[in-house]
Amino acid sequence: MKDISGLFGSMVFNDTVMRARLPKDIYKAMKKAISQGTHLEYDVANAVANAMKEWAIEKGVTHFTHWFQPMTGTTAEKHDSFISPSSGGQIIMEFSGKELVHGESDASSFPSGGLRATFEARGYTIWDTTSFAFIKDNTLCIPTAFCSYSGEALDKKTPLLRSMEVINKQAMRILRLFGNTTAQRVITTVGPEQEYFLVDKEMFLKRPDLIYTGRTLFGARPPKGQELEDHYFGCIKPRVAAFMKELDEELWKLGVHAKTKHNEVAPAQHELAPFFTTANIAVDHNQITMELMKTLANKHGMACLLHEKPFAGVNGSGKHNNWSLSTDTGVNLLEPGETPYQNAQFLLFLVAVIKAVDEYQDLLRVSAASAGNDHRLGANEAPPAIVSMFLGDELQEILEAIESNANYKGKKRSPMEIGVTVLPDFPKDTTDRNRTSPFAFTGNKFEFRMLGSMFSVAGPNIVLNTIVGEILSEFADMLQESKDFTGDLARLVKKTYSEHKRIIFNGNNYSQEWVAQAQTRGLSNLRTTVDAFPAFVNRKNITLFTKHHVFTEQEIYSRYEILIESYCKTLHIEALTMIDIVKGKIIPAVVGYQSELACLFRTKKACGQFDTSLEAHLMSGISKLAACMLRKLTALEQAASECADKHEILAHASFYRDTVCPAMSELRLIVDELETLTAKKYWPLPAYADLLFSVI
Ligand code: ADP
Ligand code: MG
Repeated sequence: MKDISGLFGSMVFNDTVMRARLPKDIYKAMKKAISQGTHLEYDVANAVANAMKEWAIEKGVTHFTHWFQPMTGTTAEKHDSFISPSSGGQIIMEFSGKELVHGESDASSFPSGGLRATFEARGYTIWDTTSFAFIKDNTLCIPTAFCSYSGEALDKKTPLLRSMEVINKQAMRILRLFGNTTAQRVITTVGPEQEYFLVDKEMFLKRPDLIYTGRTLFGARPPKGQELEDHYFGCIKPRVAAFMKELDEELWKLGVHAKTKHNEVAPAQHELAPFFTTANIAVDHNQITMELMKTLANKHGMACLLHEKPFAGVNGSGKHNNWSLSTDTGVNLLEPGETPYQNAQFLLFLVAVIKAVDEYQDLLRVSAASAGNDHRLGANEAPPAIVSMFLGDELQEILEAIESNANYKGKKRSPMEIGVTVLPDFPKDTTDRNRTSPFAFTGNKFEFRMLGSMFSVAGPNIVLNTIVGEILSEFADMLQESKDFTGDLARLVKKTYSEHKRIIFNGNNYSQEWVAQAQTRGLSNLRTTVDAFPAFVNRKNITLFTKHHVFTEQEIYSRYEILIESYCKTLHIEALTMIDIVKGKIIPAVVGYQSELACLFRTKKACGQFDTSLEAHLMSGISKLAACMLRKLTALEQAASECADKHEILAHASFYRDTVCPAMSELRLIVDELETLTAKKYWPLPAYADLLFSVI
């Protein structure tokens, strides 16, 4: 039996290690820098770097890297060794404070959306001291923010840290108004649940579509899919269990609180949920988790698919972003309290989130938009593209009672009065759940369910922190002028709920009736990524981000450009991969099978005494489909080559959505039908059944 508590965090230069290894004054200075986000003095940085190097070398480390999250959505690293030449042809192992805190890299190939001109190709990395350094693959990794020479953010971490500051500042103002003098900071807490598929590596390597695009671009439906729902929470297969065990252990070593693991609804689909932590650390940990899932799956003879929709007709993978606010003293601000005053505070935070989600539905939608996620959102699966909130009947009834000064059923002393009445208990367990809601209150946190499985969770949390921070700032502005705090507070809660309750929907989000009802409520329904993009750069949202210094206007436009470019590139690669597979694999396979049939047909005919109706039937069916496939292939080739003529970026993206995507679907339809007619030994791609049931 392994010593799990000894294992946990063993590869992290965390607080315990710092306390043990740093001189007292240095440790104190470091703690101060972490808690207050202040600059590290030169001598402190040098001492920390030295202790870090000693610790890392003891663990066999030879290199260090600034580990950052460029706009590609993954992580980047450039390894430098500790080795430094010394006299007499010797070497010494060196790592300075400057190298720890600040890095410089030629980053001209990372997407910058025009922020970095080629003459100024340098990017700078700066240590995020709130996220501990860790060892991965014998390399000391230092989590850093990444920006340009003139300070523009080129990554996902910088704006996330800025947004955490916004909500900290505004939530603290509210807490002070409620007379809280003990809390020093408000922290955003995040727990991302991660879905993924595991398929056999041999099968994976035979599918160029999975290799190049992460999803299957062809594949007829298997005789058995997820109909029986027998996979959900089912018994975990030994190979998968071995993978999960090693994944847990490796994550624990890196200080990631991997907690829950289970099979998901679709065959070959699984989920991992960590214990929640501070937002920026949760983002770092989720990136590490995704990376480890891929490398460990490979080690176990499997491939981990993180794409949002690897298989048509089978559930896709999402990521549930559980989000809440907590004080540094450990009080969850979205947890109803035990006194009327605490509950009034809870209700204020609650209606702030309701208002934020209603007013910035479009931004939340953009934060979950990508080519891959378009197969889920708005496509009768997962949450729809319409943003709405689930509060649960109980909590909604409480708010309704408050709004109308009415009695609340569970309460003797009524009507409900904010700041006077204790909230009645409402169930926080799984009985009160709505799995179809994109944004659900789950007892003491919100669960934003629209994210795709491949996403960095930075983007959605940047939006959440900023929009809720904005509403809290409005509330604080209003309440700090108040002469009658309790009365004004009650009026504010009522008014906010009443003005924004259209965003609350406790019913079935997958139903057609909801789409119609949402429209009458005036909620936005941005079905595709291309519909959602423009919202990012509308005046309201630019004003929001610039007001709170989360993004400059230039940073917003650069990100907008990167998003659109990445959407177009993804679809372009998919189109080219399809063309390549059809020409290089499908056509030869179909021709091969046809020639076998023709040969048999001729032989039988020559004998003159056999029935050839089967061969004739097959040949005729395949010939018709093959001719159709050729037409669809030509149409896709034409569409893919026309894209180059579109210069305005949104028009470019629309062309992919309206012309390239349909051409891809049409070609796929024919090829999938051909698969059902072609003998299996000729078909060049492992079938869906082979992939989905390949790991035994
Ligand atoms: P489920 O949503 O399946 O019912 P849980 O209630 O266990 O599961 O929580 C799911 C995720 O929510 C976990 O990753 C958990 O750590 C996270 N979570 C729980 N409380 C909070 C919180 N206060 N802030 C952020 N995330 C949280
Ligand atoms: Mg969940």
